[in-house]
Amino acid sequence: MNYVFTHVNLITGEEDRDVIEDMHVYVKDDKIVALEQGNSPVRDSYQTVDARGRYLMPGLINLHAHLFGTGKPSKTLGGGRQQKMVVSFASTRLGGHVLDKMLKENMEQALYSGVTTVRGVGDLFYSDVRLRDRIEKGTALGPRLLVSGPAVTVPGGHGDGTFAVTSADPAGIRQLVAQNAKHRVDLIKICVTGGVMDAKKKGEPGELKMSLEQTKAACEEAHRLGYKVASHTESPEGVIVALKGGVDTVEHGSLLDQEAVELFQERKSALICTLSPALPLASLPPSKTKLNELCVYNSRVILDNMVEGVKTALAHDIPVGLGTDASCPFATQYNMWRELWYFKTYAGVSNEFAVHTATLKNAQILGIDEITGSIAPGKSADLIVLKENPYKDLRALRSVDAVMVRGRLTDCPKVKKNEEIEAELDSLMKGL
Ligand SMILES: [Zn+2]
Repeated sequence: MNYVFTHVNLITGEEDRDVIEDMHVYVKDDKIVALEQGNSPVRDSYQTVDARGRYLMPGLINLHAHLFGTGKPSKTLGGGRQQKMVVSFASTRLGGHVLDKMLKENMEQALYSGVTTVRGVGDLFYSDVRLRDRIEKGTALGPRLLVSGPAVTVPGGHGDGTFAVTSADPAGIRQLVAQNAKHRVDLIKICVTGGVMDAKKKGEPGELKMSLEQTKAACEEAHRLGYKVASHTESPEGVIVALKGGVDTVEHGSLLDQEAVELFQERKSALICTLSPALPLASLPPSKTKLNELCVYNSRVILDNMVEGVKTALAHDIPVGLGTDASCPFATQYNMWRELWYFKTYAGVSNEFAVHTATLKNAQILGIDEITGSIAPGKSADLIVLKENPYKDLRALRSVDAVMVRGRLTDCPKVKKNEEIEAELDSLMKGL
């Protein structure tokens, strides 16, 4: 199907580019083929979508998501017997079908919210690879997926028992990386440090789990096989080990000292900001978050250090990308727009820069900016149509009028939102 979106206000996704008024955007099959300004946009064989006065921009890219969860706070995956039961059920044939269905529904919600590319960074039993293949084949509708399969870490590392596989031996770690490659993943995810829920001490949320030797083993094998490496990293020490070990993206991040800044620059690594779970977990009452006092305290440490790290990175021209860490408590699959809003509010960037980051910058970090991330002839038709101008107010992204991925149009998509979570998240925006 070919479409022309007529008389739109165009936001290209490029940096420092104003809104271009009264544009016509032509889509042929799965590609954007032409941008024209002014009169006579009608062409035979193109279906017209009258978008006069509305805003057309690239679909959002979520650089950090786990595809299995809804963001509803739950104790099921917080360790213990219940977690073991759920994970062992997911490994069965029936459990696999249930898991596949969940992932498919979650990614539909992501798409309907305006997200046209998702990087999955840790899911169970290659369910993410299966869904990616179905979407590529066209038998399921969803965002473009780049997925890691299970994360790789050491015993007791972040995700051990759920979305990660483990080995303490560097040779074993190499084997786990090779095993993921064999399952045709798109990237390798490792967990150099622990997370908020793993911490045993106040102030130590990102305890170092992987040694430099173990980290190097994972990165060397991944790079040898042609993969980029993303690392869960939540402490200053962890950032140094991850970068020295050779990771391409530091996920979450922490305070960055001079050494960290230099390592980022030397290795051309990027920092991926994920404020979506950190902010509510640190700010909402424990009755809502179901966290104990230790976790609340450590969530605050993570949040404050992540914000500082992002500011330092931006000040030193280190690439900063955005992701939601969807599946974490309060991080739904459909609230990427909030990550932009948090980024603007906490890192102090402009709305324009937040939009650029969530589109073209994120595509550059993924290495797919030739394919998607901006509105330009030759790129994949991954776009959204909005009623209002997101440069004026990012809340314009809260719901989209239309979303198109690879030329497939969904008009007036309806997202099934969890109203309770929405109300809590909205309360965090008050007074800011
Ligand atoms: Zn994560």
